Amino acid sequence: MDCIFCKIVEGELPSNKVFESDRIVAFHNIKLEAPVHILFIPKKHVPSMNDITAEDAEAITEIHLAFKKVAKDLGVDETGYRIINNCGNDGGQLVPHLHYHLLGGEKLGPLNR
Ligand code: 5GP
Ligand code: ZN
Repeated sequence: MDCIFCKIVEGELPSNKVFESDRIVAFHNIKLEAPVHILFIPKKHVPSMNDITAEDAEAITEIHLAFKKVAKDLGVDETGYRIINNCGNDGGQLVPHLHYHLLGGEKLGPLNR
């Protein structure tokens, strides 16, 4: 499958990982939109938020627990952070493998852009 995030999961593409379990992985974004910018993905290829099923519940829960752990590890838990999922064309999704952005390390602007 020609999916860059699957290739990161398989180790075929390099990444700077900050968390990994059997079901999920989190790694630094290649292009930072904030001083802290981490991507969280299920290891299973789920194309987008629209494709999540009950079978993915454990991975999604793990991702939520990893948000706060990684935020703490990177020192932004107290200052705050933002979680974003872009879904589909209008949502601005570029990589068709479900992922959540964690942005922090500065005061973020409003969401209306
Ligand atoms: P989207 O717009 O789909 O929500 O965001 C995709 C994100 O993936 C972008 O922020 C982009 O910088 C990031 N990205 C694309 N290719 C790579 C890559 O090969 N490695 C890493 N670490 N991030 C990537
Ligand atoms: Zn994939």
